[in-house]
Amino acid sequence: MNILIVNAGSSSLKFQLIKADETFETLYEGIVDGIGRASCFFTASAGTKSVTYKKRIPDHAKALNEAVSILFEFGVIKSLKEIDAVGHRVVHGGEKYTKATKLTVPVVRNIEAIAELAPLHNPANLQGIYASMEIITHAPHIAIFDTAFHQTLPEKAYKYALPEDWYKDYHIRKYGFHGTNHKYIAHQTYTLIGKNKGKIITCHLGNGSSISAIKDNVCVETSMGFTPLEGIPMGTRSGSIDPAIPLYMMDKLKIDSKKMDTILNKNSGILAISDLSSDVRDIWERAQKNNKKALYTLEKLAYEIALKIGAYAAAMDGLDAITFTAGIGENAWYLRRDICSYLNHLGVKLDSRKNRSNAAQIQDEESKVKIFVIKANEGKQMAREVFNFLNK
Ligand code: ADP
Repeated sequence: MNILIVNAGSSSLKFQLIKADETFETLYEGIVDGIGRASCFFTASAGTKSVTYKKRIPDHAKALNEAVSILFEFGVIKSLKEIDAVGHRVVHGGEKYTKATKLTVPVVRNIEAIAELAPLHNPANLQGIYASMEIITHAPHIAIFDTAFHQTLPEKAYKYALPEDWYKDYHIRKYGFHGTNHKYIAHQTYTLIGKNKGKIITCHLGNGSSISAIKDNVCVETSMGFTPLEGIPMGTRSGSIDPAIPLYMMDKLKIDSKKMDTILNKNSGILAISDLSSDVRDIWERAQKNNKKALYTLEKLAYEIALKIGAYAAAMDGLDAITFTAGIGENAWYLRRDICSYLNHLGVKLDSRKNRSNAAQIQDEESKVKIFVIKANEGKQMAREVFNFLNK
C-alpha cells in the first residue's frame, strides 16, 4: 500500500510517498517552498535520484501536480492509481478530533470552522486538502491532527485558571501541538524500553519546541497550550511569560494586539535573547568563541527545558525515560548535557561520550532514567495512522 503524505503550509507543500509495510520506508519525498512568489524552490528525491530547481508555482494544486510529475519521471509509480491513500497534516483538530479521520465534506467544513483557533495553520493545511482532493479522486483522504494525541490530558492539565465561560464559549484551553511526533517518539521509546508501560518525557526541540509527559502510552501533560506560543523559549517564540507583560508593553509601546502577536511569535525566543540568530547552530558557533550572549542563550534554554522536565516528573510522580528529538534535540549534545546536569536528583546520568556522538541511547550505566535520541519522523507516524485507520 502506497500512502501519500501531504503537509501544506501557507506558501509551502511537503510531500512523502511511503510504502506501508513493516518498515514504512519513504519512496519519494520533497518540498515546494515559495508557492505564489515570483520564484519557488522545488526539491525532491527518491533513493539515489534527486532534483532541485526554481520556478514560479502559483498555487498548491500546481505544486502538487509538480510533485506528481517528478514522481512519475523518477519512475517510482506510473499512475496515480498506485497511490492508495492520502494523509493530510492538520494542525488544529479542536476538541472534536481525537484520532485520524476520513476527510468528507462535513469534516472539511469542521476544519474550516476550527481555523479560527489556528488562523496561521488550518487555512494553509486546507489548501493542501482542496488541491489533493481535486487531483487524487480515487483514494481516501485522511486527516491527521497535531492536537489529537494531547486530547487525553486530564482536566486539571488542559484547563486554565480563567473564567469558565471562556472555555465554554470561546474554547480557551490547552490543546498542545506536535502531537504526531510526540506519539511517534513515545511509541519508539516504549519499543526501546521493551514494554508499553512507563513514565516518559518527550522533548521535541526544533524551530518550534514542545515537551510532553506520557504515562503508560497516554499523554498527560504538554508544554504548548491554546496556541504553539506557550511553553519553553523557541527559535523566535517567547514561550510562557507573565501574561501581564504583553498588556503592559502594549500600553507602553502603544501597539495593538496584532503587533504584539508578531513580537511574541516572530521577534522573541532564541532570536531575542541571543541577539544573534534563531538557529541553535549559529548560537553554538558563537558560544565556542566565548560570545557572552550565545553562552547565556544556551544556559537559559537548558534551564527552562530542565524546569519543564522536573515539573513533568512531578506530574507523573516518577520518570523512566527522557527522549530528545527534532533538530536541536537530535544534534545539540551540549544542550542535552546542560539540561541533564539539573536532573541528577531524578537519577538522570548521561554517558558523556555517547551523548557527544548523538548515540541512540545516551545514559550512563548507573542512570535510573533511560535517555534516548530519536529522529523525528512525522511522515512515518502519519502513514501508520492512515494505514491503521484503513485497516481497523
Ligand atoms: P522544525 O521545527 O521546523 O521541523 P527542525 O526540527 O528541523 O525544525 O529543527 C530546526 C532547528 O534545529 C534549527 O533552527 C536549529 O536551531 C536546530 N538544529 C538543526 N541542526 C542542528 C545541529 N546540527 N546542531 C544544533 N542545532 C541544530
